[in-house]
Amino acid sequence: MADLLAGLQLAIEVAFVLLTLAAGIDWLHHRDSRRSHLALAFGSLTALILMAPAIGRVGALNQALTDIAVVVLLLSGYALLMFRASFIPFRPTTLSAIRFAISAVAVLAFAAQLPPTSQAPHSTLQATAVVAVLVTWGLCLVEPIVRLLRASAHRPAVESARLRALSLGYAALLAEVAAASISGSTARHPYFVLATDLITLAIVPLLYVSFSPPTLLRWLWRQPEEDAFRNGLHDLLLFSPDRATLAHRALGWATRLVGGGGALIIDPDGSILAARDLTEEQALEVAGGATVFRPKTAVRVGRGPASRVVIPLLLQKGEGMMVILSGPFTPLFGDDEALRLRQYASSIAAGLDRVSMNERIATLEKAKTEFLNVASHELRGPMTVIKGYLTMLQAGSLGELSKESKHVLPLLIAKADEVNWMVEQMVEAARLEEGRLALKKMPADLVELTDLAIEGVSQLLSKHELSVDKPARAVQAEVDPDRFQIVVRNLLSNAVKYSPAGARIKVRVSGNGLARVAVTDEGIGIAEEDQARLFRRFVRIETKTTERVSGSGLGLWLSREIARMHDGDLTVESTLGRGSTFTLQLPLNA
Ligand code: ADP
Repeated sequence: MADLLAGLQLAIEVAFVLLTLAAGIDWLHHRDSRRSHLALAFGSLTALILMAPAIGRVGALNQALTDIAVVVLLLSGYALLMFRASFIPFRPTTLSAIRFAISAVAVLAFAAQLPPTSQAPHSTLQATAVVAVLVTWGLCLVEPIVRLLRASAHRPAVESARLRALSLGYAALLAEVAAASISGSTARHPYFVLATDLITLAIVPLLYVSFSPPTLLRWLWRQPEEDAFRNGLHDLLLFSPDRATLAHRALGWATRLVGGGGALIIDPDGSILAARDLTEEQALEVAGGATVFRPKTAVRVGRGPASRVVIPLLLQKGEGMMVILSGPFTPLFGDDEALRLRQYASSIAAGLDRVSMNERIATLEKAKTEFLNVASHELRGPMTVIKGYLTMLQAGSLGELSKESKHVLPLLIAKADEVNWMVEQMVEAARLEEGRLALKKMPADLVELTDLAIEGVSQLLSKHELSVDKPARAVQAEVDPDRFQIVVRNLLSNAVKYSPAGARIKVRVSGNGLARVAVTDEGIGIAEEDQARLFRRFVRIETKTTERVSGSGLGLWLSREIARMHDGDLTVESTLGRGSTFTLQLPLNA
């Protein structure tokens, strides 16, 4: 047993020395006061552990060693208190009172000339001094233990686990000392010593992970939060309607990620895109400071509660910035948090660029719709006049025409019809875009309406061989007759445009279960990969054969929208080089 205890004692000493070394190296790397306090707290505990066996065994130096041990003990408590103060600073008066109280207790201990061991008889003054030293040390530990535990509640997962590990480590240490103090001679029982030694040894890894947790542990701690974060990021990147909303949501996650107290995103021109948990004045002040500074990589600026992290945001239109301010609990930033923040910033930058692009596209789309609206209305009037006069010329009501003029007139009328048809599509498309396309539905016979539509484009069909397959009975459906004809005329005019002169075009009307109007041509056909795109606005399939065919790319989009407004659909079946069938389906009238 004695060997085991001696071995354990050695292990404890080695473990604490290593812990102090690790904390010291960590401080040398980062050189901030918070880490120096932690290194001092661990270092003084280690010094005490190393000193303990010598106390009472060095003859004349006993008193000096006891006094030094008291100072080191109080120092370990004070250092922990200072570490805690770097999260929630004390008021200057409180800090002075603490320093005064600790010094006073140390002076009392010196004056009382404490005996080196607890077994030696104590005078009243000495007993008072021992109690004062232990209570002061205890309070120096209890306050941070409770504070840090409470502070861990609303912090990012890694930081929260680190704070809890530190609290737990110190709580165990305190419990151990308290148990030893109140258990008197039992404290020297080998099993008691064994138990406390094992606990002391277990405290070391707890304290270690509080300032330098291994990557795997960080990863494990972060897992529960990771899913929520991933979903949150996904939502904010995909569903933010504009840059300001995206930036605002992004800041919410950024502060949650590192436990910041406020945050803002600054555009490349220096204007504030979004701010969170900051007054307007604070935001302006922070933005002003950051724009002067403009770091190239994520950096931490300032100290204590005024510290902030500035991360560059590489946007398409220049370099913006994201600034996260520390809150009342200054975040314990590790490399891990800084790395996460940098990765996060690049996702946010990509998201912001996507939204700006969408905003630009939306503006262009709007401009296109406005253009459609204006152009179609401006063209409509003159075209009516042109078509009117051409018809009058053809009818001979404006006098006899020369043979040559008569010859070109049908072509002029066909071209005027083509332009009129395009204008009609543009007017309808603009209405649809602006939500003004209201259907005037009524019960109608689709066979009859199809005949009317064919008649409307008879000029166009003159060079093709048309066959119409229709049922003898009427096919009744609730439709807007004009819009229905627009769809059928569009399908017929496409069949003409995209098949050679003389080819067959078949129209088939049926009413079995659903009303169907199918238009089949023997034209150029459409490649499978292009078929889904056809129905989008302004989409035209550009090939050698289609480049000379005029069109707006609006017809099929408009036709499918009209079909869907009737609770129906427009579909295509096509083989490249063989021909296509477009089928309009509508619900039958019950
Ligand atoms: P457009 O005014 O260009 O004809 P549409 O929206 O009516 O616009 O058609 C979109 C594109 O679909 C056309 O540019 C053409 O490439 C293709 N397309 C439409 N109908 C046919 C068809 N019957 N045969 C082959 N390609 C077609």
